[in-house]
Amino acid sequence: MTTANDSFRALVLRQDEDKKTLASLETLTVADLPDEEVRVAVEYSSLNYKDGMAVTGTGKIVLQWPMVPGIDLAGTVIESASEAYKAGERVVLTGWSVGEKYWGGYSQQQKLKADWLVPLPDGLSTQQSMAIGTAGLTAMLCVMALEEGGITPESGTVVVTGAAGGVGSVAVAILAKLGYQVAAVTGRESTHEYLRELGASEILSREEMAAKPRPLEKQRWAGAVDTVGGEMLARVLAETDYSGTVAACGLAGDFRLPTSVMPFILRNVRLQGVDSVMCPVARRSEAWQRLAQDLPMQKLEELMQVVGLDEVQEQAAKIMQGQVQGRVVVDLNK
Ligand code: NDP
Repeated sequence: MTTANDSFRALVLRQDEDKKTLASLETLTVADLPDEEVRVAVEYSSLNYKDGMAVTGTGKIVLQWPMVPGIDLAGTVIESASEAYKAGERVVLTGWSVGEKYWGGYSQQQKLKADWLVPLPDGLSTQQSMAIGTAGLTAMLCVMALEEGGITPESGTVVVTGAAGGVGSVAVAILAKLGYQVAAVTGRESTHEYLRELGASEILSREEMAAKPRPLEKQRWAGAVDTVGGEMLARVLAETDYSGTVAACGLAGDFRLPTSVMPFILRNVRLQGVDSVMCPVARRSEAWQRLAQDLPMQKLEELMQVVGLDEVQEQAAKIMQGQVQGRVVVDLNK
């Protein structure tokens, strides 16, 4: 086990005079870490769309400089000033602005607030928890939102947009395991077989689903998990069945929503927003337990590609171009 004097590797983001983001692998010591309660040996992190934005310097994701990005991490507690955790316990963290405002997972060690951590659920390895990560947690929260809207496998087909991305892939796998008929919307033909393996029974083109809808279209979906926003979310709403529920969590296409009130006032459609970042601890823990139970492990492995810290920059550029399939797990010891 590492000690306080040990040095370790981290990906550090700095801003130059022109406010351009510079990313480089650096050697840090414990003295460099933030003054937080729990020191964790990070085993795995992951790459989400937000991480792609941070590492490539796109948008205003990073709020403090220098920054160690990585919005997700999993590992083992080295030492803890909080009674909630003790050395040797395995923990997982997603959200809470870690990797944006506070130092995150792209470091072999990190110091974190005890309140941000969740004990790793039984039956999940640290690597598997990062194959899930923020994307998987968000997908599960979307599925829970559909259930709370009264949607069951008997209600009809659930459509998932941005289906071959991180959130979309996990949503397809969970819904299929729970017995739902799943329609997957993707812009990449190369992902069709992958989506069918995850359990999609129908595949729709991005082009078809992004076409501007009329205020109401033919009813097709009992529910939806939308990661795209924009015209696509507008079309999904216009095609949702009477009393259907749409869980909206993303903006991979557009942050705007050019829709009308018609689906809501004539078809009783529910639009439920989903946020995983500030999600309360009790709901977060419930979602992690559900993931351990409802996400098929074999499918989880198919979702995942494992990269080292030195490959993060290349993968970050790819996720920004929509070139990543499923989940990218970062092995801090690779
Ligand atoms: P990914 O990049 O892995 O997946 C996004 C997918 O959206 C792509 O793979 C692609 O799927 C599709 N897509 C990309 N660009 C467009 C476009 N212009 N029009 C239509 N579809 C497009 O990202 P994540 O899965 O990590 O995140 C998805 C979204 O959810 C992001 O907007 C992210 O910010 C948000 N998010 C929100 C969270 C929350 O708490 N609310 C938490 C996590 C993520 P395909 O190739 O299949 O077409």
